Amino acid sequence: MSAKILEGNALAAKVASGVHAAVMSRVNGGKSRPCLAVVLIGENPASQIYVRNKRRTTETAGIQSFSFDLPATTAEHELLALVDELNANPQVNGILVQLPLPRHINADRILEKISPLKDVDGFHPYNVGRLSLKMPLLRPCTPQGCMHLLNETQVDLAGKHAVVIGQSNIVGRPMAFELLMSRCTVTVCHSATRDLPGLVRQADIVVAAVGKPEFVRGDWLKQGAIVVDVGINRTATGRLCGDVDFASARERAEWITPVPGGVGPMTIAMLLVNTLKACELQDAPQLQPSALGAYMPV
Ligand code: NAP
Repeated sequence: MSAKILEGNALAAKVASGVHAAVMSRVNGGKSRPCLAVVLIGENPASQIYVRNKRRTTETAGIQSFSFDLPATTAEHELLALVDELNANPQVNGILVQLPLPRHINADRILEKISPLKDVDGFHPYNVGRLSLKMPLLRPCTPQGCMHLLNETQVDLAGKHAVVIGQSNIVGRPMAFELLMSRCTVTVCHSATRDLPGLVRQADIVVAAVGKPEFVRGDWLKQGAIVVDVGINRTATGRLCGDVDFASARERAEWITPVPGGVGPMTIAMLLVNTLKACELQDAPQLQPSALGAYMPV
């Protein structure tokens, strides 16, 4: 069997065109154009590529983009002050601070400073907490994108055993909450997990978010599994690849996401969705933070 491919590029283009239509309808109806502020600190080449793609895709969807490119020497208090300024700016609907940050800046402190209503990455503890309580507001982009891809299979997820490999705050953990919300039975694996291949063999759905090139082998998979590969890695020869050995996995899986062209473009598409949603939330006074449960930003 050769797996069907879950094409992230095509689905992301469909999502982006839906966002573009919704933005145009807002603007033509006299409402504000959604606006995303993207903050990049330093000159990490991978971050520069991600940020360039995010800004370009944002503008293609009709969303206004503000850029803040600051030197790697930016102090934490300066970045906190910029976030404060963007929180208070009514023109800005979404704030994205590209990770990783230089080591002298505490990323958790920065992410917690972003207003939960402008938190388009969905990393703020408030938004992660809401997701864990089945009350999602702004959902972390990568897991949300993975759910859209799973939805494309038209497989009923209820009761399926999903194995998530990786427990990071930005992928593995929120992914587990998303799958739970879809009524999967979820196993979350990490570096202390025993017999990972044995657990993966039991999975109807495998989500790999490990950060190790071609780590998950095809012979670990149950026949007919759905495989979502979040990893973005380079091999020793510089080839881009995922966390799953695509060649052997596609012989066992029913569905599989490619790398590149799978989860990556869906992450950016979800950024557009979240920016539009953040803008709509800010239009609605009944959804301001105090009404969302007395959250007081620190
Ligand atoms: P991360 O923070 O480094 O987390 C990696 C996770 O993998 C950790 O939970 C770690 O366990 C676990 N792990 C490491 N070795 C393992 C092993 N031998 N067996 C089982 N689990 C193991 O990485 P991340 O930020 O979640 O990203 C994961 C991958 O996704 C990376 O390749 C990243 O580039 C990619 N990514 C892609 C997108 C996208 O849009 N496509 C978005 C974000 C990330 P411990 O917790 O025990 O250390």
